[in-house]
Amino acid sequence: MADLEVLDKDPAVLIDDNGYVADVGRRSDLEIPGECSEVEVDGVLFPGFVDSHTHSVFGAARLADHERRARGTDYMAIAAEGGGILSSVQSVRETSKEDLKDLTTRRLNVLATLGSTTVEVKSGYGLSLEAELKQLEVIDEVSGSAPDIIPTFLGAHEVPAEHRERPDEYVDLVVNEMMPVVGQKGLARFCDVFCEPGVFTVDQSRRVLEGARKCGLMLKIHADELDGSGGAELAVELGAVSADHLAAISPGGIEAISQSDTVAVFLPGTMLFLGKSCVAPARQIIAAGGAVALATDFNPGSSPGMSLPLMGAMGVSQLRMLPAEAVVAITVNGAAAVGEAATRGQIAAGFRADLTLASVRDWRELVYWYGVNLVSRSWVKGSPCHSGYGSVNYLS
Ligand SMILES: [Zn+2]
Repeated sequence: MADLEVLDKDPAVLIDDNGYVADVGRRSDLEIPGECSEVEVDGVLFPGFVDSHTHSVFGAARLADHERRARGTDYMAIAAEGGGILSSVQSVRETSKEDLKDLTTRRLNVLATLGSTTVEVKSGYGLSLEAELKQLEVIDEVSGSAPDIIPTFLGAHEVPAEHRERPDEYVDLVVNEMMPVVGQKGLARFCDVFCEPGVFTVDQSRRVLEGARKCGLMLKIHADELDGSGGAELAVELGAVSADHLAAISPGGIEAISQSDTVAVFLPGTMLFLGKSCVAPARQIIAAGGAVALATDFNPGSSPGMSLPLMGAMGVSQLRMLPAEAVVAITVNGAAAVGEAATRGQIAAGFRADLTLASVRDWRELVYWYGVNLVSRSWVKGSPCHSGYGSVNYLS
């Protein structure tokens, strides 16, 4: 993960008519066709950033929860006062599809200005067939405008109030009624589940993910955020593409995930926003040969943050990742965490020309400055995704 190739002498990227990289290297070494149009850029050109974990479709912000936490109210008490995930569920159920589309489009535009060219977006604030489909249709209908979107069905995000006393019946509903419709309509590439004591048990999560596999969905899991209860081990057992959170992963989980193809996705913004110290074992997993990605977890409750370079800076300062590892974690390994390692996350021949330009002289500055947007332009498959949002001056 610490092995980056940096081209600093007269570098150029040749992009074909289909939006893929045809060649990359020293400009004088490339065979440039005569009819080629040229764009000259200044700064450091990175592979487009891949945000592998967001909950971008939601209604209202959760400002009262933020204040409640500042006053020392804990998670359970916040939920009892009408906050928490279920307040976002109520908000999504009450908000029209058109309004959700408008909000989601605006948020995706901001993600684009921060350099993300691929964004995974989950449902999970509907928790009924109708409201989950509404969220997934929003995701489907905003797709196509940049950035590129990877849709995930997260019907098992929480047990809704109407099934509070009968969680297994809700799991039945997700597996038997929601998932086949989602699969049939082609509204999701992935299925995710919140595997955590008090939300869905390991056995319930296994039922959800096995059902998803039968419907042709790839697997993701929210695992071991608060308690190392076997979520990472389940992810490895079922061949999940990623296991996300992992702040409380057990030693057995670290061993299992390090020897697997499942990507460990860490979400340092969530820990920061909730006021927890981030001790997720990125170093141990990297040392044992595992793949680590960083994502924003952008959501209204626990991470209203949208900047992957900021996650990279926190990866360095909180998780003790090297700057090169942090850059890999938001590009190459972000792509792997959405099952797209072969198509994006690298500037290399045959990969999509998803590119992000930052106004820096040294690539390490990307995960150094924070609270600053260094991104000046980006492209998805060679077409402009974001261009010239303000102008950032070189800071060193
Ligand atoms: Zn999440």
